[in-house]
Amino acid sequence: MLTPQLYGAIEAGGTKFVCAAARDVDDTVTETRIPTTTPVRTLRDVTEFFAAAAAELGRFDAFGIASFGPVDLNRASPTFGQILATPKAGWSHTDLVTPLAQRFECPVRIDTDVNAAALAEASRGSDGFFSTLVYVTVGTGIGGGAIVNGETLRGLLHPEMGHTRVVRDARDIDFPGICPFHGDCLEGLASGSAIVARYGSTLDRLPEGHEAFAIVGNYLGQLAANAILMLSPQRLVFSGGVMKNAALFRTIRATAASLLGGYANMGTTAASLEQIIVAPNLGDRSGLVGAITLAKSAARNKS
Ligand code: ZN
Repeated sequence: MLTPQLYGAIEAGGTKFVCAAARDVDDTVTETRIPTTTPVRTLRDVTEFFAAAAAELGRFDAFGIASFGPVDLNRASPTFGQILATPKAGWSHTDLVTPLAQRFECPVRIDTDVNAAALAEASRGSDGFFSTLVYVTVGTGIGGGAIVNGETLRGLLHPEMGHTRVVRDARDIDFPGICPFHGDCLEGLASGSAIVARYGSTLDRLPEGHEAFAIVGNYLGQLAANAILMLSPQRLVFSGGVMKNAALFRTIRATAASLLGGYANMGTTAASLEQIIVAPNLGDRSGLVGAITLAKSAARNKS
């Protein structure tokens, strides 16, 4: 009898590492959350978790890592698998791949958390597989990943959609934006941190009808229209803490429809975008399921 496959999956985030040993995307055997403290401590705890799992369940066939960015995804690069310069204290140049590959002697595939989540959403949609899909998360920061023609999108680095430019909302000309690199890029204006900096409150604590909903929705709607025009995704998924406010989806669809202007039938009205601009099918599990999916593909390709 064939031994069932065993995959290690890590969703590496700025506040916690979610780790799982799984037989398949919907068959997690054991799972834990490890706080993101220092690289040495966190990676030691991660390795110990997987070593204990291996002692009980057997050898891992492959690992998949869905990591916060920026991260070097270029296999030919001397810094492959490393977190690049990041404001997250102590984590710049941390190698996530080598410690696992050496300890468990199996292939390790790494991608950004949002690319991995896009992969999971593309594979697990209720309408079948989407070959091209964009996944955006709006939380403390804003990240965007994509599947294009069935593959996660990477190139010079990987998509960094949160740092694209948006046209200033006329009601919002005084706020300078909070991005340390760009000031008033999308993340600097519409992330959860920007909302708190501007209004002294998270969006869900502001009264219904507060102009914040319209302003933030306008900025995110601009990203939606641009993503649709640039990548032509079959689905555009918006996730993250800020997106728990359903009113935002309505504003995003209305803004995107208005900007698309009926061109080429890509979302003439907000209603026609209801099937396209959507919440994640997998809820908060997209990143981890994406990591398991990465591990499965690493096991298949032995890389
Ligand atoms: Zn920026």
